[in-house]
Amino acid sequence: MIILVTYDMTKTPVVNVVDDIIANASRKGVSDIHFDPREDCLMVRFRIDGDLQDYTKIQKIYERNLITRIKLIANMNITESRLPQDGSIKGNIQGISLETRVSTLPTNEGEKCVIRILDYTRSLQGIDALGFNDDNFQKLKKMIAEPNGIILITGATGSGKSTTVYSILQVLNKTETNIITVEDPIEMNLEGLNQVQVNSEIGLDFATVLRSILRQDPNVILIGEIRDSETAKIAVRASITGHLVLSTIHTNNSLSTIERLLDMNVERYLLSSALSGIISQKLAKMLCPHCRIKEKTSPYQKKVFKLALGKDIDEIYNANPKGCDKCNKGYKGRIAIQEVLMINDEIRNALNEENLEKDDLNKLVYKSDVITMLQDGLLKVLEGKTSFDEIYKIIDVDDDLDIYCKIKGIEYNENNGESKDNDKNRTEKEIPPEVITKEEEPKEKDDEIL
Ligand SMILES: [Zn+2]
Repeated sequence: MIILVTYDMTKTPVVNVVDDIIANASRKGVSDIHFDPREDCLMVRFRIDGDLQDYTKIQKIYERNLITRIKLIANMNITESRLPQDGSIKGNIQGISLETRVSTLPTNEGEKCVIRILDYTRSLQGIDALGFNDDNFQKLKKMIAEPNGIILITGATGSGKSTTVYSILQVLNKTETNIITVEDPIEMNLEGLNQVQVNSEIGLDFATVLRSILRQDPNVILIGEIRDSETAKIAVRASITGHLVLSTIHTNNSLSTIERLLDMNVERYLLSSALSGIISQKLAKMLCPHCRIKEKTSPYQKKVFKLALGKDIDEIYNANPKGCDKCNKGYKGRIAIQEVLMINDEIRNALNEENLEKDDLNKLVYKSDVITMLQDGLLKVLEGKTSFDEIYKIIDVDDDLDIYCKIKGIEYNENNGESKDNDKNRTEKEIPPEVITKEEEPKEKDDEIL
């Protein structure tokens, strides 16, 4: 739990205050530090596990000095405050080795500054620390062992895609392998890789770099993100000519990824032979193991477990809203909820068909041995790692159940499911008020380090 701290600016030099804020943020696992100019003060806020919290208030008279100090160590132009700027801080602060990206933005109350702390400790823990369930982990290992094909990692902004990508690259990073990446931006320097930074100002875009990469005898190619049709096409072609291609794409799940690629006019016959698999992921807040509480499942929750997992569940762990001294309102850290789809022959054949219907593709995906994101999320609820509310927030549960039911040939409505006889007099959906409004994915991040 973060407590608002106060700095005595008359006694502490600005240099030390800045160092202290950054070092404290890093120790607490903060992803972003916000310096918000307000009418009467400079508010410093920390983003932890996706949520912003006030950290300290700096008197308005010290605002300029403080922002200038940050700009100075971030190698920005300190005489320019009317235009947005980007910079970075690399080095040692109070004994902590840090890498950050810094950006400023002129607002009506003054220059706002955000420091993104790049925490690679997670990426360096290896693929077995990514939270894949056993089944998905085996599929992942199988996919990356292939010498060619394309593996896509999908998810919204801030869903941990980069962590997954870098972890996979570490496994593939061997003496006998030539790995070339094209990224925008390069988020982490990995020894042994050839990393290329895109620079669109001079015409060095993804497509241009990719064409050159193919002449550089690569084994593995990482394309930071597939954003346009040209990149998608080159990626697919590269993967069928004996290269393993990894890339990320900004979609929700396996299905929408396939649709997106087809929308980008990637040739169907190429896509169907190139695509090895799709890893989709989202982040859910992790339950604090010290204070989580066991609760009876509501009729709605029972129904969800029954339909999605075929299980009768009477009790699940939930967050203790009061929290404890080790967490924030019952949550600490985040866990990835994943879906790993290995493309099987049936899906491959279907991709080749010009008039493939979305519903048919749906069926094929759900009938394969895939563990859907909803199923993985619910399994992680059963393990006490996250809460039902979190899964409900990040996944469109009713939409997913509707698809399950269609495949099983039953109609999904409020009244089906196992619990109907016991709950005639109760509200069907016993969802706490705070999760009824769907929340979007956390928008705070423009990259995906966990
Ligand atoms: Zn706790």
